[in-house]
Amino acid sequence: MGWLRQLLDFMVPEERLELSSPRGAGDFESANFWYNAKDFRQLTNKCVMSMGALALLFSDPAHAAQPAAYLTYVLHTESRLDSPVMYASPEAWAQTRHNIVAWARLVEAEGQALDLFFSPDYMEAEREWGRDYAQETGGTNLFLWLDRLPHVEVGAHVDEADGQWLYADAQEILLGFGVRDHGIVGGTFCIPGPAGYTEFWSGQTSSSGWTWRPTIIHGLASPGHVCDLRDSGVWRPSLDSAWMNDPSGPLVAVGGHRNTTETIMGELGACDPARLNTFSVQIFQAALSEPDFLAGRRREAGMWAGRQEVAWATLTEVAAVWRAQYLEEPSLVVRGAW
Ligand SMILES: [Zn+2]
Repeated sequence: MGWLRQLLDFMVPEERLELSSPRGAGDFESANFWYNAKDFRQLTNKCVMSMGALALLFSDPAHAAQPAAYLTYVLHTESRLDSPVMYASPEAWAQTRHNIVAWARLVEAEGQALDLFFSPDYMEAEREWGRDYAQETGGTNLFLWLDRLPHVEVGAHVDEADGQWLYADAQEILLGFGVRDHGIVGGTFCIPGPAGYTEFWSGQTSSSGWTWRPTIIHGLASPGHVCDLRDSGVWRPSLDSAWMNDPSGPLVAVGGHRNTTETIMGELGACDPARLNTFSVQIFQAALSEPDFLAGRRREAGMWAGRQEVAWATLTEVAAVWRAQYLEEPSLVVRGAW
């Protein structure tokens, strides 16, 4: 699927976005260009997907040139309780912010994809401390700066078992930063019921009365991560089981969480090329506080360079591919547990 990325990159060249040069505050013309460029890419994406679906109707799907797998990077930030080092001081937190910015620039330069899910505590830190570091993000807040990048999307992450926040609360706070609602639940329990993935079935209402209706779910984990399944693919979970497809289910699940570059490379050869296979390279939030964080991402970029059998795509893009090219054919594969 290198051709899709190549086509998109050709139509909206990354170098035109001047990602390496920080923007001055109030540079609205550039900000609008970013925004429009991303919209244009998504429009182009939809056109290309539709063309792909049409092409499948007139060709032998078994011989269609599909990537072995779609990949995106995923990171969740956690609460102050879970990540005391990250929030120990404004400077300690700013180092993680700096690493996220540098990582996003690397993702853009490499044509990779990145889905970042932020906890309410990280949003609060951005509101309290972020303005002192806004020069690095063109004078705007971190989340809006990230969301304007063509290969990056942002959402919320909450551990609802903590009892402090609902997903709808976190998503509502995030939207207050000006980002778009991608409708992604960024990590939840794979169990049915009020404490699991089915709580989003007909939307979730925040404490202020706003109802959020997510459409995509990623990171279906077991409570306490005691038995996380090694899933891959795209499907619609049923009311009874996260691992059964129900074509009428309201949420599209994208599988493949908790992988690393190494585990994915070890499994690519076993992927059935006739299916839509998905993986996410999960980076744990503690890594953001480590001095060699960016070096690790550069090393992985070197490992992925030239691997034309994989296609980088955000969770939203993968769901769009599934709808248009695979006509919602469920492709869930479970390869055991972590
Ligand atoms: Zn969490």
